[in-house]
Amino acid sequence: MTVVVLLGAPGAGKGTQAALLAEKLRIAHVATGDLFRAAVRDGSPIGLEARRFMERGQLVPDDITIRMLKDRLGKPDAADGAILDGFPRTSAQAAALDNALAERGDRVDQAVHIEVPDDELIRRMSGRWVCQAAGHVYNEPTNPPRVPGRCDIDGSSLIQREDDKPDTIRARLDLQLASLREVIDHYARTGILRSVDGLQSIDDVARDLHSAVTGERPPTDA
Ligand SMILES: [Zn+2]
Repeated sequence: MTVVVLLGAPGAGKGTQAALLAEKLRIAHVATGDLFRAAVRDGSPIGLEARRFMERGQLVPDDITIRMLKDRLGKPDAADGAILDGFPRTSAQAAALDNALAERGDRVDQAVHIEVPDDELIRRMSGRWVCQAAGHVYNEPTNPPRVPGRCDIDGSSLIQREDDKPDTIRARLDLQLASLREVIDHYARTGILRSVDGLQSIDDVARDLHSAVTGERPPTDA
């Protein structure tokens, strides 16, 4: 099986790109968030274990996440491989993932980092506004309201949540980037790290990602 780890800061478009690439390569898109939700919904013993932590607002321990991940990689749609989105988040997790895959004779084949400069990440993430009446979500760069500051649906005024303000975002991002760098270093050491320019359009990032993973050069536009 082919295992691809997709890396990128929040706001780098990792989820979107993981879904596109999984579809193109016909392998599973394994997003850790979905994994937790599915395990809890299925009521499996491991899901119940994970739920105990989530309900207390605690992080699910790495060994539980790894066991869930191994179960997930055993599903039929992952027979040919998977793209991991949201895991590993730390170098300890990356090492644990290597060990878990090695037990079954597999390994991470490619790790691809979607690179986006910090300032751009902050710009993308702080573009989020919600309407006061019903919480309808707008995004300055990608989904702006027709009238600035007003909800298209109910006309109520748009506000920016504390969580979405640039200072809050920068503080949160600094912590996330420190972990991301650890993981990037891990794969740089094992020699499988590639990167693509995340400042391009979604289609162009998808194209570069595909060639980074497959080694195929995309057909050039005539
Ligand atoms: Zn609204």
